[in-house]
Amino acid sequence: MLKINQFTFNPFQENTYIAYDETKECVIVDPGCMDKHEENELKSFIESNGLKPVLLLNTHCHVDHVLGNFFCKNLYKIPLYIHKLDEPTLLAVKAYAPSYGFGSYQETTPDKYIDETDVISFGNSKFKVLFVPGHAPGHVAFYNEEAKVCLAGDVLFYRSVGRTDLPGGNFDTLIKSIQTKLFTLPDDTTVFPGHGPSTKIGFEKTTNPFCAL
Ligand SMILES: [Zn+2]
Ligand SMILES: [Zn+2]
Repeated sequence: MLKINQFTFNPFQENTYIAYDETKECVIVDPGCMDKHEENELKSFIESNGLKPVLLLNTHCHVDHVLGNFFCKNLYKIPLYIHKLDEPTLLAVKAYAPSYGFGSYQETTPDKYIDETDVISFGNSKFKVLFVPGHAPGHVAFYNEEAKVCLAGDVLFYRSVGRTDLPGGNFDTLIKSIQTKLFTLPDDTTVFPGHGPSTKIGFEKTTNPFCAL
């Protein structure tokens, strides 16, 4: 069964996730580690649990979610998967990263594009890809049906939603993504967001001030 470990990195308090199962294969999702200290925290967890990273996934490519891409690709020699529509978001980071204090940011490029028909397999586990634009144009979420977990990036937060004032953002698109994609998952699905605490689909469906049905 799939297990999720959460880290919180960089001044944006971004949640980085490692998903792994009994085979010890793991995927790294949205590595936000920005310096040696944070990189070591990620690396130590992988080593002490005997995990083998096989894939690097980005839900979307804002700076806070991709700061550790280079470190992970370089150290573990694993391919980076993103949605094609977020490639411009990724390529834009290099120009603006220094203005956020990330002067040492090193650029990465994707190795494979993923979209809704794709199923990402590792170990004995699978993630279905959900296309959920609105916060970023090529935003995706990763859903594991068996463990009822969804790594959802900056789309749906505990009693909140992602901001839509960044390039490529659109509020109506975001709400539609939540209501037509995330809210079709079972109510007891745990959402692990890009910022803040985890939440449940059923809870957000009834109480979220922005997108409750
Ligand atoms: Zn974002
Ligand atoms: Zn974020």
